[in-house]
Amino acid sequence: MTFKQFDELTNKLLEQVLTMRNTKGKEYANSDLDRLKNFTDIAEETGTSPLIVWQVYFKKHIRAIDSFIKRGETLSNEGIEGRFVDAITYLLLGYGLIIDAQSPTEAIKYNPMCAKCVHKLNDHNINGCTKCSCTTIV
Ligand SMILES: [Zn+2]
Ligand SMILES: [Zn+2]
Repeated sequence: MTFKQFDELTNKLLEQVLTMRNTKGKEYANSDLDRLKNFTDIAEETGTSPLIVWQVYFKKHIRAIDSFIKRGETLSNEGIEGRFVDAITYLLLGYGLIIDAQSPTEAIKYNPMCAKCVHKLNDHNINGCTKCSCTTIV
């Protein structure tokens, strides 16, 4: 593949990524204001953190590419191109989530789970967990 061919090929792929970001992603967001709301919603519903939710989805996309490498074909009707569009789109979302999690006003949504019990770190204070006997002190 020449430099020119590679540039043309990847320009086409990036255009698809932008289209995906501007259409399908908005549909999934469940909100007009918070682009990353579905991650915080699902995290809340499943008792985990938004970045863990993202990790699960992202791994799914990477595994689809892994599977293509092993089998030489995709298992769905969509080609390998679509799998790369998905993976790149998810990288953009992961970047957004990480930047969001570092923002003091947004950080509360990203409140991580305690490593020693099933509750959020927010549920802990200087006496440990307020919901169980966990002794993690915050
Ligand atoms: Zn705890
Ligand atoms: Zn607890």
